Amino acid sequence: MKHNFGAGPCILPQEVFKQSADAVIDFNGLSILEISHRSADFVSVMEEARSLVKKALGVPDGYTVLFLQGGATLGFTIAALNMMRDSKKAGYINTGTWAKNAISEAKAVGINVNVFASSEDQNFNYIPKGYQIPSDADFIHYTSNNTIFGTQFHDIPETSLPLVCDMSSDIFSKPVDVSKYDMIYAGAQKNLGPAGATLFIVKDEVLGKSTSSFLPKYLNLQKHAEKDSMMNTPPVFSVYTSMLNLRYLMENGGVQGAAERNAAKANALYHEIDTNPLFKGSASKEDRSLMNVTFLLTDESIKEEFDRMWNEAEIVGLKGHRSVGGYRASMYNALPLSSVNVLLDVMKEFSRVKG
Ligand SMILES: *Cc1c(COP(=O)(O)O)cnc(C)c1O
Repeated sequence: MKHNFGAGPCILPQEVFKQSADAVIDFNGLSILEISHRSADFVSVMEEARSLVKKALGVPDGYTVLFLQGGATLGFTIAALNMMRDSKKAGYINTGTWAKNAISEAKAVGINVNVFASSEDQNFNYIPKGYQIPSDADFIHYTSNNTIFGTQFHDIPETSLPLVCDMSSDIFSKPVDVSKYDMIYAGAQKNLGPAGATLFIVKDEVLGKSTSSFLPKYLNLQKHAEKDSMMNTPPVFSVYTSMLNLRYLMENGGVQGAAERNAAKANALYHEIDTNPLFKGSASKEDRSLMNVTFLLTDESIKEEFDRMWNEAEIVGLKGHRSVGGYRASMYNALPLSSVNVLLDVMKEFSRVKG
């Protein structure tokens, strides 16, 4: 069995993989892949998936949950188009690659973007603080967890303007106060399920208010809401597996249980990084991500030896993103503490032989 520290697509519980695989062969006598998405069987899958999202996150009344396609990447465009109002201005926080992509897609649809806070000056190794949120904007957008740079917002930005968040890589990892947001979106494949579905949680009062002169039907969340997330063929396999994973989450303490397990994993790894002289963290301590832990060797010349050791321990997906270098241990909900302990053992052994 390998230990998957990959940044996405994510590890899912073995039990979920098993149930999902079974359904590919036999889901009430047909494959989940061949049944009509209009059949009662699939309609009930979609309804359960949507209602489990509400249950897991405590989504208040007045919000709609949708499973669409296109990934968080199309989410950048969908968010901008659906939140656009008369001013056609928006405030964005730039905390890394994904935030930058969100900014450029908002610009592409004609939004006048004010990047009022950024950590680009230090290669995104911290979360900006003490910024002034603009008051003349249709909405404010940020990225809750920076998958590549290993930083995470531990507080929600304070604003009275509509708040939009790309939560692709930390949704369902901890409780979240959904009532603070007008829109949350997330690609499924970081912590929810297989690639293919993109989750939107949107306040009903947002729907149908876009001032964009260009709003194709698929990009209009109101159209999806009217059709209960079944306007066209949904990504059935991804929705089904996400539903299984949400069931599993609810049977295992919900997001509060996940938060406790995730904190234990992250604390153990950060402790090792901070106490082992051969390693150092790359993100500012107070802004460290509990999902994606980025770290570097203090001496790059012994890299080959470390790489050999973790590869031999059956660890995969530990290589850092090219824009940060070093290593990145992604520890999504389904990664067990036992896998983290394997990595800790390798780091300790490495320092014993090299330190
Ligand atoms: C991976 C990721 C994306 C891109 O997601 P796709 O579904 O591949 O388009 C966007 N935002 C964040 C924070 C991510 O981690």
